[in-house]
Amino acid sequence: MQILTHNDRSDLKPNEYLLESLKLRPVIARGISGKLRRRILERNGFTCQVCGAGASEESGCEPGKKCRLQIDHILPISQGGTDEEHNLRAVCVYYNKDKADIIKPASGQAVSALAVIRKLPRDIQLEVYRFLVKKFDKPSK
Ligand SMILES: [Zn+2]
Repeated sequence: MQILTHNDRSDLKPNEYLLESLKLRPVIARGISGKLRRRILERNGFTCQVCGAGASEESGCEPGKKCRLQIDHILPISQGGTDEEHNLRAVCVYYNKDKADIIKPASGQAVSALAVIRKLPRDIQLEVYRFLVKKFDKPSK
């Protein structure tokens, strides 16, 4: 079950917790070591592979909430998936395969580009940002 904190909802104060639903959420990556988890997060540039959000940015998987990342099995264990790296990816904790209709997915290419950019040092990210602003944010006449 998922328990929400003030990190998830702005109407909650620190030390206030909310059990929003009694619905059980799928158990995530129990057999995955901290080291492997870290490697997947780094490989994915700390970017949700569904909506493109970065950790603590607004989630596209659950708009209005901040993205927290978990490791997801692309092919679920129950369907023969494994804990091998190629079957693992970073997604928002809110991402729910059964509710694919409520999410705002980003294109795969955008997610890949964001993952690459988020791995770069901050000053290089800023440089990329400035190029994009120059390209798209032309002053309206
Ligand atoms: Zn997401």
